[in-house]
Amino acid sequence: AYVTRFAPSPTGFLTIGGLYAAMISERMARQSDGVFYIRIEDTDSKREVEGSAEDMIDSMRQFGIVIDEGPIAAGEEEVGAYGPYRQSDRVQLYQAWAKRLIEQDLAYPCFCTEEELQAIRDKQQAEKLNPGYYGQWAVHRNLTAEEIKEKLAKGESFVIRLKSPGSPDNRVRYNDLIKGEIEMPENDQDIVLLKSDGIPTYHFAHAIDDHLMKTTHVFRGDEWLSSVPIHIQLFDVLGFRRPEYGHLAPLMKMEGTSKRKFSKRKDRDFTASYYRREGYPNVALCEYFMTLINSDYEEWRLAHPAEPFTAFRLDAGKMNVSGALFDMNKLNDIGKDVIARFDARRVYGDVTEWAQAYDEGFYAWLSGNEPYALGIFGIGRTPEKPRKDFAKWSDVRESISYYNDEWYAAAAGEIPLPPAVSGDTAKQLVASFLESLDYGDDRETWFDKMKGVADKHGFAKEMKLFKKNPESYAGHVGDVAAVIRSVLTGRLQAPDLYDMMHVMGEGRVRSRLSSYIG
Ligand code: GLU
Repeated sequence: AYVTRFAPSPTGFLTIGGLYAAMISERMARQSDGVFYIRIEDTDSKREVEGSAEDMIDSMRQFGIVIDEGPIAAGEEEVGAYGPYRQSDRVQLYQAWAKRLIEQDLAYPCFCTEEELQAIRDKQQAEKLNPGYYGQWAVHRNLTAEEIKEKLAKGESFVIRLKSPGSPDNRVRYNDLIKGEIEMPENDQDIVLLKSDGIPTYHFAHAIDDHLMKTTHVFRGDEWLSSVPIHIQLFDVLGFRRPEYGHLAPLMKMEGTSKRKFSKRKDRDFTASYYRREGYPNVALCEYFMTLINSDYEEWRLAHPAEPFTAFRLDAGKMNVSGALFDMNKLNDIGKDVIARFDARRVYGDVTEWAQAYDEGFYAWLSGNEPYALGIFGIGRTPEKPRKDFAKWSDVRESISYYNDEWYAAAAGEIPLPPAVSGDTAKQLVASFLESLDYGDDRETWFDKMKGVADKHGFAKEMKLFKKNPESYAGHVGDVAAVIRSVLTGRLQAPDLYDMMHVMGEGRVRSRLSSYIG
């Protein structure tokens, strides 16, 4: 069983990349009957954004990610045996481990002032050396106990540094779950473990936590890849067993002809909440993430159309190694596929829930017209013939707006007509159709009558006839249907006319047709 985690720093809102990493981590835990937990890495209070941790947790849950352990949501108690799960509540623990490293001569206090550190950096730069506190540049590494006591007595401020056992001449190797065998220079920097205020650095705190929280596998963005030598060394020095690492390539966007990373500043689709607001079904985003992380997924999906996406087994060894291109059109296609598989009740339930949060007016209409809405969503929607109409819930209102009398009236100025039909002819066709209309007719009788209307006005009763002899007809029966459809909806494209008329109801249909004739 895998124990995985998502360990955000609460410095903003959940990003699409964060959601991607969290979902993959959760899936890896879930499919191995393991545990997925959340840890809030809030040791940098200067960068912390109020409410950010709560937003991230709520966001993850809204997307269907199940958190087994961690702070659960605003106002809720945390769950799990290895907490607290906020690093700011664990400071004493990090300090205790730092103390232990000092006792083992694996860490030491460093009293360098900012000016002294700057002087070191300047000299290193002048000599074209790697910047940092290492080797001969680690000037406080070997202070005697007396020197330390003296400085403490003077009240000099200090940090705790690792006494790095590494050398840049050595290489470390590890096997990344995603990227494979990786070799890098060993860490030789005496990195800071505790800052002068006693608060740990990310590197130190996360190593202790990953160990104490029993993490077995870490999936995180590959911007952390270059820190792996430090992390490996910390685990070794602390005497902990290292977790396995899988570094995820970032999601990319197309700009012009080149790929680039998502940008907080430029992209409104950078945050996870954008996809909630737009109303993408959770499953659509999850399925899209699956196709991005693992190219086998699409093939599997075709072979298993009815299975939930969670039945697919993710394999870290097959995960995308270079940045995957996030394509909104692709996401929209998946959204359409996902919604097509829903029945009318599910569509109604989900769109109503979405509207409650994001579109008050639509919500009021949906809740007040449940049977009508169920009829609308039911048109042409059968499991055998899924109806691909909406990619996301924010598409629905516009797509069905003509069913609502007020929205229909507001849009009604223009009734588009098929090219073969003039305004006068359209009125005559509608008048004859209205005359023949009997709501008791079954589909066949109804259509025969429509053919009759066509015939009466010089339109071919059948497409076949028209095709053979286009000059002898004004048009064909399809044009007649198109006129009726357009008068009822204000559009030339709409679902099956017979079904639609029955969902709309006799009163509404007659009144729209009659007012068109004027
Ligand atoms: N707190 C780090 C971040 O914000 C987590 C890195 C890790 O997963 O180790 O990305």
